[in-house]
This record gives sequence, C-alpha cells and structure tokens, in this order.
Amino acid sequence: MTSADTLTPELDVLRRIFGYDAFRGDQEAIISHVVSGGDALVLMPTGGGKSLCYQIPALVREGVGVVISPLIALMQDQVDALRNLGVRAGFLNSTQDGQQRREVEDAFVNGELDLLYLAPERLRLESTTRLLDRGRVSLFAIDEAHCVSQWGHDFRPDYLALSDLHERWPDIPRIALTATATKATHAEIAQRLNLGDAKHFVASFDRPNIQYRIVPKNSAQKQLLDLLRTEHPGDAGIVYCLSRASVEKTAEFLVQNGIPAVPYHAGLDSRVRARNQSRFLREDGLIVVATIAFGMGIDKPDVRFVAHLDLPKSVEGYYQETGRAGRDGLPSTAWLAYGLADVVQQRKMIETSEGDLAHRRRLSAHLDAMLALCETVECRRVQLLNYFSQEGKACGNCDTCLTPPESWDGTVPAQKLLSTVFRLDRERNQKFGAGQVIDILLGKQTEKITQFRHDQLKVFGIGTELNDSEWRGVVRQLLAQGLLAVEGDYGTLALTEASADVLGRTRQVMLRREPERTRQPRTRKPA
Ligand code: ADP
Ligand code: ZN
Repeated sequence: MTSADTLTPELDVLRRIFGYDAFRGDQEAIISHVVSGGDALVLMPTGGGKSLCYQIPALVREGVGVVISPLIALMQDQVDALRNLGVRAGFLNSTQDGQQRREVEDAFVNGELDLLYLAPERLRLESTTRLLDRGRVSLFAIDEAHCVSQWGHDFRPDYLALSDLHERWPDIPRIALTATATKATHAEIAQRLNLGDAKHFVASFDRPNIQYRIVPKNSAQKQLLDLLRTEHPGDAGIVYCLSRASVEKTAEFLVQNGIPAVPYHAGLDSRVRARNQSRFLREDGLIVVATIAFGMGIDKPDVRFVAHLDLPKSVEGYYQETGRAGRDGLPSTAWLAYGLADVVQQRKMIETSEGDLAHRRRLSAHLDAMLALCETVECRRVQLLNYFSQEGKACGNCDTCLTPPESWDGTVPAQKLLSTVFRLDRERNQKFGAGQVIDILLGKQTEKITQFRHDQLKVFGIGTELNDSEWRGVVRQLLAQGLLAVEGDYGTLALTEASADVLGRTRQVMLRREPERTRQPRTRKPA
C-alpha cells in the first residue's frame, strides 16, 4: 500500500462530502494541525481554498465548528451550499427573527450541527457566550481575520472582542484566515487575536494567471468599453468605481452600448442588491459594476476580468479586489485606469477624513504604496509580492514586462513645473491646481491666464516641449514620488521638502514615459 492510499479521516471527508480528489497547497497540513487541536494562522490568497481548512476539521472533530465571519449577507448562501452537500450548518445573525434564532440555538445545544456561522457582533452578547457554553464547540474559525487590524484597510471594531476567545475557551483550537496581509497586518492579527502559539501557514500570494495592467486614464468609460470589446467580449467581470453615482452611470453606459451589466452598491435597495448579486453568480457573461462593497466572499470561478475605473485606496484592497478574477486558474485580466484627478481626490479625502493624525498618516502611507505600484517601471507582480514581503521574478505577464516602459530624465521639466509652483506662491502669494500650472507652462492665452496676468510670469510658456497630457503625467509622477503635494478643497499644488533638492539641482528625477496607446499588446514588442 502506498502512502497515497492511506485514507485519513480528513481525506475521506474531502472525497466523500466535498467530492474533491486531493488537497491543494497547504490544506492538508493546516487541516491535520487543527484536527489535532493546534491553533493556526492562515494567509492564503483568494481562491486558495481557505474554507475547507476549517470546514473539514469541524467535520472530523467532535462538536460544532463555530465560524466568525463579517459577511452577513453571504451566510445564508454559505449555509445553503453546505446543506446541499449534506453538512449540518446554521447561522446566527441580525437578519433572523427570534423563532429562527431559537431553532438554530437548540440545534447547536443538542449537537445537531457541524458548523455554526456567527456574526462577530454576536460574540459581544452575554447570551451568545452562555449559549456556546451549553453546547460543545470543536473549533473557532475566524474568517477575514485582517478585519481585526487597525493598520489594515478593512478594520471592524467587533473583531477586537475575539481576543477573549482564548481566555474563555483555552482548550478549543482557533484558526484565523485571511487573503490579505502585509508583514505589519500579519503581526497585528497574531497579537490582537492572542495567537502567540499558533502555527503560521503562509501561501504564495502570486496569482500567475492574472495579467496586471495599469494605464493612464483619459476617458475611463471609453477605455473600458474598448477593453471589453477587444479582449473580453461576452465575459463575466467586475468593474469597480469609487462612488455610487459613477457605479450607476457606468452600468448604464455599458448597457447602452449593448453590454449586459448591473450596478451594486450599499445605497441600493437590499432586494435589488441581492438580485443583482445572484444574477452575477448564476448568469454567464454578466458584468457587475460596483463599489468595494461588492465582492468579499463571492465565489465565482470564471470572473475573467476585474477593472478599476478609480484608484484603489491601498495595495491590499487592490490585491483583494483583483484576486476575484480567475479563481478557475484560466487567464484573466486585472486592469486599472488611473489619473491625476484620482490622486487629488484621494489626498483630499484623507485630509478631510475623520480620525486622528496617526490614522491619516496610515491612509497616506497606503495611498503612497498604491501610487508607487502605479508608477513603477519594474514588474507589477514583483512589486505586489514585495509589498506582501514575498519574492518574485519578472513575470512576463504584466504590462511592464510585456511592454517595458521607457524611463527618461525628467529633471528639467520637473524643475520647470516646481519653479512655476514656487513663483506663483512667492511672487503672487497664489496657489493653483494642475490645470492652470500646466497652461502657464504651455503659454496658453486663456481667460483665466489673462485674468490673473499669469502671462507676465517669467515661466510663462517655458514648457512647450511637452503637451498637456504629458505634463499631467509629470505632475502625477511627481506626486507619486513625493516631490509635489496637493492641498485643500481645490487640489492646489504645493511644494514638499523634497522639492527643494530638485529645484536646487541636486536631485535627478527619472520619469516613466506614458505609453502612446492605452491598449497593451498581448505579446512582447519586436525589438
Ligand atoms: P478562499 O476562501 O480561499 O477564497 P474557497 O475556500 O472559496 O477559497 O475555495 C475556492 C474554490 O476552490 C472553491 O470553489 C472550492 O470549492 C475550491 N477548492 C478548494 N479546495 C479544493 C481542492 N482541494 N480541490 C478542488 N477544489 C477545491
Ligand atoms: Zn511582470
């Protein structure tokens, strides 16, 4: 008998109940660790197969596996899916009435459940802890564990209460799972959840079948349409927009252009939202245009593209959202269009956000990392993996690998631009946004130029070697490099400490040349 034939209880459950032949990646090691009573912290990308890591131990161990999940809207679906496999599952959350709750509670106490899904806020209730004491718990699974991290991008205060699990039930194994964690978030999860003795399982975050592309935005909707028509006709996909209004406009725009699309955001009636979500899951080739409210826990294997029409707020968010593409392992596209206005808008949102200085600094650091990813001349995948403290080689399947961007010495244009900002401030005591500064550099005779007599400035017309869109690229990249800042309600430009080095000619500025066309060829350019 070879070892492959040894039928462990875990493997038996995998085959008999879930209908799969073999474990993937670390699944087997994680499952046997938890089955034998150990704590585990699991970092595995979306689609990696995290659910089985707690579902199988819950079935193998004596008692009920308690799963803490913030995804209230999905609990019903998750439980239905398990019941279809013959697993005895139930959930407790705020959407139920008293009668429904009591039935689930009774089933739990009588040991008639394998898995019980709980919303995190329920654990704060004394009645819940009393209930858990009355039944037999086989393990605690903490899904979306990054929600406990204040450093991360998706903090939920209710998750902080989960640190008590260990004190209250020291003998029950805990498994925390997340699809996104930098080194800092990873450490914070372990600390806040009291997982000092837990074994850490960290899978590779590479998603080789996803092609990452980030393009300068000029007309986002048209660029999107072009992408869909040329590369993804008839494909299912997700389009992310920042605001509810742009979600609705974009969905309408696609429909008008003959592409089936539905909107999804938190402002829609919950029935409409549920209907659009289930249509997306069930129908072929439907596009959902959504805010980031959409997607956590969505398991649709054949999402062929994820498009961002606005800049995500963090690399973690970007990674998680793009990770919803290509769970089936087939080639998929992660496409992002971003422009100067995104940077201005997000800086403004950070400035006016609630919370203390430390919080705003954190948001700012998240944005800076995202901008660095956008403006890199290196492989996007390597940059992404490095962000999660993992190594990678140039991948050959991202825009910068396929069409290596040229970098050019932009020191002189940078000096011209910065000195225009400097002169406006010094000589006129004025601050202006990128549009006006660029018009001054280009020597344009607009009404606003005449009104402010900007044609009298010494720098008027000194930048005609670049055109308007090239200058916008310069501004964007200077912002990304911290050599320029935007301020206030109108997104006016201001110098930073580092600007002085450029103006003082002690610092060279390397810039990335804007691609002429926004569509990337699928193959390498002939030399
Ligand atoms: P995650 O929670 O990590 O995003 P899921 O647990 O939803 O991922 O799993 C992703 C998909 O992979 C699901 O459709 C799941 O059924 C499937 N899957 C998980 N483990 C295996 C396995 N060992 N063999 C085949 N398919 C698997
Ligand atoms: Zn690459």
